[in-house]
Amino acid sequence: MTLEQARLPVRDDLRGLRPYGAPQLDVAVPLNTNENPYPPSERLREAVADAVAAAAGTLNRYPDRDATELRKDLAAYLGHGLTAPRVWAANGSNEVIQQLLQAFGGPGRTAMGFEPSYSMHPLIARVTCTEWIGGSRDADYGLTTAAGQVRDARPDVVFIASPNNPTGTAVPLSLIEAVYEAAPGMVVVDEAYAEFRRDGTPSALTLLPGRERLVVTRTMSKAFAAAGTRLGYLAADPAVIEALLLVRLPYHLSTVTQAVARAALEFRDEPLATVEALRAERDSLVTWLRSAGLEVADSDANFALFGVFEDRDAVWQGLLDRGVLIRNTGPAGWLRVTVGTPSEMATFRSALAEVLSP
Ligand SMILES: *Cc1c(COP(=O)(O)O)cnc(C)c1O
Repeated sequence: MTLEQARLPVRDDLRGLRPYGAPQLDVAVPLNTNENPYPPSERLREAVADAVAAAAGTLNRYPDRDATELRKDLAAYLGHGLTAPRVWAANGSNEVIQQLLQAFGGPGRTAMGFEPSYSMHPLIARVTCTEWIGGSRDADYGLTTAAGQVRDARPDVVFIASPNNPTGTAVPLSLIEAVYEAAPGMVVVDEAYAEFRRDGTPSALTLLPGRERLVVTRTMSKAFAAAGTRLGYLAADPAVIEALLLVRLPYHLSTVTQAVARAALEFRDEPLATVEALRAERDSLVTWLRSAGLEVADSDANFALFGVFEDRDAVWQGLLDRGVLIRNTGPAGWLRVTVGTPSEMATFRSALAEVLSP
């Protein structure tokens, strides 16, 4: 417990916790939070500026509480026959996940994920007073035992990140179907990295028809190159969204956020064109790391998990000393690096080669 907390009547279950956060350090090569390294083009910047200028004249009014036009645009982007009543949006997929746990988790209820996975799932479970059940993965980070674990634990909410963070692993749809059959409650497939999937890896969106307890979450923070916009969304049965309307704060999504997100969607061809380059860069990164004698998890995302180091902290620090910030996360001995521009990756490779050569 910190001294400051001791002076205040903070919730007992929050005492002694530290705020979440990847270090936000000012470095030459930031490869630690899986952002798209390509900034918006001149054309997109102008479109965003115009959208904000138009919204500025209406800011005396509250925003559209139900973000109807934005949800229409998001549904059109997702395809799969989705429509606005089946799509919901909030301030980042983290807020979407929080609303899901507020509506379907909470005191006396449980949520389960398969670790290592996205650290925000258990953290948001905690702040919503949902008990966390940490399930496990196969040795190669696959989920062949997940349905059995769900059958035993009977959680109210199951999280499957696919492609998974920090491993990069995607889950075959047959395993998601098996988890859904085994689960008594909601099954949330977190597809934050969906756009980076390798060819032939399908999206869980195809499983939505007829499965009213299934939710697929997405974000504009990664492939869309819009992490600063804070826009996450989900696709699900309209009944799921009706439940979320009970817990969301009124006017949670500002007029400015809605306008910026719609402009980014209109010009989506530009950021999404960078996804091709990032996937190719990812594949050559994985090949290079393996040729350097390192272990690398198969990746369907815009990052790679590699190791195994006796002292990963030393490798992480060695890279930082050379201006390259990666993420010290994942199973013991492993590190995660985000795919950046070709020149950022060249700097990463030479820095890592220096750190690893005695
Ligand atoms: C980055 C990430 C998110 C994105 O969160 P936002 O709040 O939308 O920025 C969600 N899920 C996973 C697994 C992620 O890695």
